[in-house]
Amino acid sequence: MNIAAKKVDVAREAAVLLEKLGVASDLYTGGAMPSFSPVTGEQIASLKTVSAAGAAEKIEKADAAFRAWRLVPAPKRGELVRLLGEELRAVKADLGRLVSIEAGKIPSEGLGEVQEMIDICDFAVGLSRQLYGLTIATERPGHRMMETWHPLGVVGIISAFNFPVAVWSWNAALALVCGDAVVWKPSEKTPLTALACQAILERAIARFGDAPEGLSQVLIGDRAIGEVLVDHPKVPLVSATGSTRMGREVGPRLAKRFARAILELGGNNAGIVCPSADLDMALRAIAFGAMGTAGQRCTTLRRLFVHESVYDQLVPRLKKAYQSVSVGNPLETTALVGPLVDKAAFDNMQKAIAEAKGHGGVVTGGERVELGYENGFYVKPALVEMPKQEGPVLEETFAPILYVIKYSDFDAVLAEHNAVAAGLSSSIFTRDMQESERFLAADGSDCGIANVNIGTSGAEIGGAFGGEKETGGGRESGSDAWKAYMRRATNTVNYSKALPLAQGVSFDI
Ligand code: NAD
Repeated sequence: MNIAAKKVDVAREAAVLLEKLGVASDLYTGGAMPSFSPVTGEQIASLKTVSAAGAAEKIEKADAAFRAWRLVPAPKRGELVRLLGEELRAVKADLGRLVSIEAGKIPSEGLGEVQEMIDICDFAVGLSRQLYGLTIATERPGHRMMETWHPLGVVGIISAFNFPVAVWSWNAALALVCGDAVVWKPSEKTPLTALACQAILERAIARFGDAPEGLSQVLIGDRAIGEVLVDHPKVPLVSATGSTRMGREVGPRLAKRFARAILELGGNNAGIVCPSADLDMALRAIAFGAMGTAGQRCTTLRRLFVHESVYDQLVPRLKKAYQSVSVGNPLETTALVGPLVDKAAFDNMQKAIAEAKGHGGVVTGGERVELGYENGFYVKPALVEMPKQEGPVLEETFAPILYVIKYSDFDAVLAEHNAVAAGLSSSIFTRDMQESERFLAADGSDCGIANVNIGTSGAEIGGAFGGEKETGGGRESGSDAWKAYMRRATNTVNYSKALPLAQGVSFDI
């Protein structure tokens, strides 16, 4: 089902929302950087960009703010993030709508992204009283050994278009309670939501009262401005989310100056449907994982291995779901699938589908859905039955293409599952405990996220988020991901009157 759109004025609506969210209009009018809405493909703003020198100046300011912020007690720093959570609750509808305009997400996903921001704020507030170090047994009498965690410095954040606000909050909420300042280079495809987040945080800072000036900065610009952040000596950590191509450039530059990297890169996520799977449940999880967000999540389901004994029960139903899923303008309809981000994404999708056909793929869907927008790119999600895993199946194409492959042997399918370069998310559908435990074991899924009877996408903030191999190895959000945002010191205190040396070494002078 294709849902036709009513006439919408996205530029006008974006301007109204930005004003409500407290963003000064001179920041997004009359500038050199255009911003487009994928919903209609129209230009909605012209942003002022920062120069390389201007970016360096903002980083210096953030560094000065860090030097004061690190001395504020952590639970008090948590109060700022609590206020940020309050401000976000107050503007959830408006910010969610702006996410839909700028990233093309359907309303529940735009709102869901803001909810994720609120959730990470709550998590970080609790964390602000739990930045624990260990007390460790020492071999020397009259000594105490412990670890302390100290603020790190300016945290650079580089983000991708597809989670334009949540990724910033995962990093910023943790960094702020950890005593760091933040400098954010958002995607050039979604700069307006970044300006909105900065305005929201500035309101929280104003209510907080005495936070140092310059604690949070936004750098509007393209990748060259991202490079200024990556190369700046006063940025000890850069958390960069985007393509593996970007990570390949950013990683070595950070390593060169011994800065820390959290790299959250591409995924080529797979699911396995076993003979005992609950097929109704699997169907729903696969549909959301593969078609949701128009296939533009890093955790989108891209490869599906289905056991030969259930293939003919599941795959025809799945194809039906692909044929009937609603594609339409997310601002004006109840469609489940919105637009691709731009023409390049559409072209990449068509190229991958053509390549898959060359490898014997049989395609359902994949064609453009005409809604009357010359530059708005809507597509039918594509399901491609493949004889085997090869060609485009081995790569991430950031669009809704699901490659489906039949399997017969569990060990062989596990090996196939792991035989791609990325290692972000994975899932298995089974009611067989031996299969599910194998999938989660050391020789099971090699991904940072491995799920049972849940799809690959839609992670909660409580767990550490990230992946292995070419996904970059970073972890952000929950669990102990906060440790990357602090520096650890091991402290040994001698409260005795002697000076025993470790390992029994004697050095009497
Ligand atoms: P992209 O790599 O084109 O851009 C991401 C960001 O990196 C942008 O802000 C861009 O300006 C910046 N950038 C690019 N090259 C740079 C360089 N050399 N130095 C500094 N900054 C640079 O990615 P995209 O198209 O916006 O997003 C889609 C990709 O992001 C997909 O591959 C997706 O899987 C991935 N992604 C990963 C995660 C994750 O958590 N693993 C989350 C979201 C998206």
